[in-house]
Amino acid sequence: MTAHGPGVPDPGLPGWERSPAEIRALGHRVVDLIADHLCGLPDGPVFRPFPPAEAAALAAGPVPTAGAAAHDVLDDVERLVLSYPFGNGHPRFHAWVNSPPHVLGVLAEALAAAMNPSVAGGNHAAVHVEHQVVRWFAELAGFPAGSGGLLVSGASAATVTALAVARHHAAARTGLDVRADGLQGHDRRFVLYLGEEAHGCVRKSAELLGIGAANLRVVGSDGAGRLRPGALRDAVRRDLADGHLPVAVVASAGTTNTGAVDPLDELADVCAEHGVWLHVDGAYGGPAVVLLDGHPAERAGLARADSVGMDPHKWLYAPVDAGLLLLRDPAAARDAFSLVPPYLRTDGDPGGVTGPVWFSEYGFEQTRGFRALKLWVLLKHLGVDGYRQLVARDLAVAAHLADAVRAAPDLDLLAHGLSVVCFRCRPDGVPADRLDELNRAVVTAVQLGGGSFLAGTTVGGVVALRACIVNPGTTTADVDALVAAVRAAGTAGAAIVVAP
Ligand SMILES: *Cc1c(COP(=O)(O)O)cnc(C)c1O
Repeated sequence: MTAHGPGVPDPGLPGWERSPAEIRALGHRVVDLIADHLCGLPDGPVFRPFPPAEAAALAAGPVPTAGAAAHDVLDDVERLVLSYPFGNGHPRFHAWVNSPPHVLGVLAEALAAAMNPSVAGGNHAAVHVEHQVVRWFAELAGFPAGSGGLLVSGASAATVTALAVARHHAAARTGLDVRADGLQGHDRRFVLYLGEEAHGCVRKSAELLGIGAANLRVVGSDGAGRLRPGALRDAVRRDLADGHLPVAVVASAGTTNTGAVDPLDELADVCAEHGVWLHVDGAYGGPAVVLLDGHPAERAGLARADSVGMDPHKWLYAPVDAGLLLLRDPAAARDAFSLVPPYLRTDGDPGGVTGPVWFSEYGFEQTRGFRALKLWVLLKHLGVDGYRQLVARDLAVAAHLADAVRAAPDLDLLAHGLSVVCFRCRPDGVPADRLDELNRAVVTAVQLGGGSFLAGTTVGGVVALRACIVNPGTTTADVDALVAAVRAAGTAGAAIVVAP
C-alpha cells in the first residue's frame, strides 16, 4: 500500500508527482511564454547572436546536483533561451528553409508528449493517427491505394531510409542479399544518380549505405538548374554497359538552393525504361508541387516515384521535427528492414494488442515519437484548402521579391524557383572580380543589422544572396524592406571595396 494516490505528491519523490493544480499553473505559465514568444517575435531584432558571456557560462556550468523549483527553471528558460531565438518566425527572416510553427502544432506537441507513446507499433490511437496522416499525404501525392510510408525526423532520414530500400531492392534483383552479406562478396559497383544541386543528405546516405561518394553520378542540369533527362539516360546506359548496378535516381521537387523542380515526369520515364528506383526529394518544395497547379507535369511525375520525401516541418509549418517518407510499395521497405522472418509475418491483428503491422518493420527506428499528432491536427484545422492558400501566399511574396530585384538597377536576379529568390548586388564602380567579396560582406551586414535576415550561397559559381519565403506572416512590405537593407549594405560595401 502506498500512502499517496494518483496525483498526490509523495514527499519521498521530490519533483515527481504533480497535482492537477500544479500542472495547470505550470502549463499556464508555459502557454503565456508561448504566446509572448510567437506574438512578440516581430517586435525584436530578427537575429541577435547569443551573448559570448552566456555561452561561456553554459559551457562551464556544472551539472545541477540539487533540483530547483519548476518556476525558477522556467525563469531561466525565459531569460536565457527564449530571448535568443534562431530567427525563424520573424516575418523578416528569410534564410534557409525554416518556417514558423503553426501554434496548433506547438500545442499538439505538448499533447503528444503528455501521452508519450512509442509509435513503433501497437493498437493505440497514435498508430492509427499516423496511418491516416500517411495515407492522406499519399493520396495528395497521387500515390495509389496500397502505398504507405512513415514519419521520420526529416528528409535526411527519409532519404537514407528510401535509399536503403532501393539498395536492397536493386541488389535482390541480381541475386544479392545485402542484408546478409553487406556489399561484400560481389564485384558489381552500386551507383546512384543525382543532380548538381541535390541536397547533401544524398551524399551522406551514399556514404553510409556503402555505395561511396565516388559512385555518385552527378547528372548535368539545364540553365534553370533542372536535371537533364537525356544526360541521365546516357549515364544509366553507360553504367549498365559497364556492368554496374544502378540503385536509384534522386530527383528534386524543389532544390534547396534555387527552388528548381526537376522534370520529374521525364525522369520517371528514364527510370521506368531501365527499372531504376526513383526517389523524389520534396523536402522543401513537395507541398507546392503537390498542392498547387504550377507544376502539373512534375506533379504527375512525382506520383510515379517509388518513394517521396517531404518535410512538413518546412513548408507545412509543423514544428520540428516532422519528416515524411512515402513508399509506393511498402512491402519493399519491410523486406529491407523487418527482422520478423517472412514465415512469421502477419498482416497485423486489427482487433488485438499488436494492431497493424508495426512501423518499426519499415524503417530503422524502434521507439518512435508521436509526430503524427501535430500533422493530423494541422491538416484537420487548415484543410488542404487552407494549406493551398498559405503556400500560395508565400509564392506570391517571393514573386514580388523577384520583381523588386529585377527593378533595382544595382541588383541582379540569379535564380527564382518556387519561393526561393537568389540575387546579388552589383553597384556601379565595383570591379567584377570584387563582387563575390562585396556580396559576402552584404550578407554579413544584413544578418547582423537585425532588420532583415537572409542567407548567403553560390549560384553558378558566384556568391549570391538567397531568400526563401516560407512564412505566411511575411508581407510584400517585409521583402521590400529586405531589398532596401541589401541595397544600403551594397552601397556601403561598394564604398569600401572601391576605396583607394
Ligand atoms: C532540408 C532539405 C533536406 C534535409 O532535410 P532535413 O529535414 O533537414 O533532414 C533534404 N533535401 C532538401 C531539398 C531539403 O530542402
